[in-house]
Amino acid sequence: MSDHPSIALIGECMIELRELHHGGLSRGYGGDVLNTSVYLSRLMGADATIRFTTLLGEDPFSLEMLTTWESEGINCDTVGRLTGRNAGLYFVRTDKIGERTFHYWRGQSAAREIMGSDWADLRAHAMGSDWIYLSGITLAILDDPGRERLLSELAVARKRGTHIAFDGNFRPTLWTAPADAAPWHSQVWDLSALALAGVEDEATVFGDATPEASLDRLRDHGITEIVIKRGPQSVLLHADAANQYIEVIPVGNVIDTTAAGDSFNAGYMAARLKNRAPAEAAHIGAMLAAEVIQHPGAVIPPSYMPTLL
Ligand code: ADP
Repeated sequence: MSDHPSIALIGECMIELRELHHGGLSRGYGGDVLNTSVYLSRLMGADATIRFTTLLGEDPFSLEMLTTWESEGINCDTVGRLTGRNAGLYFVRTDKIGERTFHYWRGQSAAREIMGSDWADLRAHAMGSDWIYLSGITLAILDDPGRERLLSELAVARKRGTHIAFDGNFRPTLWTAPADAAPWHSQVWDLSALALAGVEDEATVFGDATPEASLDRLRDHGITEIVIKRGPQSVLLHADAANQYIEVIPVGNVIDTTAAGDSFNAGYMAARLKNRAPAEAAHIGAMLAAEVIQHPGAVIPPSYMPTLL
């Protein structure tokens, strides 16, 4: 890996409205790929260029997001702003037993237009990075022609030497049925050098009976480095042609598991970009995720970031 790698992370960030106990609302911003971008930027600091690749709208919230990302050290030269559109929005409701439900207003969000012809130069810049990271949600928000275009641009980038990392994050509300996601996920897996998969997402989309079955299926795509995250259970890792189970960090007081997988991915990739071995990278990912789930929300205050690298 080069001394100063560049990583472009393609996704959507939305406005988050969270209902409070007394009926009020708090406002934040969130999105799976953005969460990974923030944590990766914090971990890599000046040692890498971390690009978030997205479209924002002309609303004031979009501008505030951009300012926040820049303050996190994220490179925003592949962030476009689309006139006539706004950022997407979701509402988080917590019921009496602490169960959260998510409701989305994202059908017209700016980020959905990222594969449009107006943004070809922005995408070409992102695709020139050493690594491209995306998730199943990146695919889910696009229409079929947008997905086709993304796949062909990823294939060209890969031929030129760009590595692709994919987390098959699956949100049922964004697809008509899990089976609709499967062919698109499969095509990204075909192009991926690194799989950062969640056990439930893989089982839902592909019907895998066990984590080991998911791993074997991902190996069939030719992927040589595979991580299967299993919540509080050990991580299943395939690297250097061998399988291993890496224990996660026990957490007694889980506050909010939002972004557990996203932060794990950032810890894992940062460690690998710094030439740490895959097993150590999985441990580092688990350490960051263990801290993140002890705080509310997706992105923890910088002062709580553990020293990992
Ligand atoms: P995803 O969101 O991708 O499905 P997981 O829920 O599997 O991700 O969690 C990702 C990582 O976060 C796990 O591999 C583990 O390291 C950590 N993690 C998640 N839940 C717990 C938990 N209850 N206790 C300890 N670690 C956890």
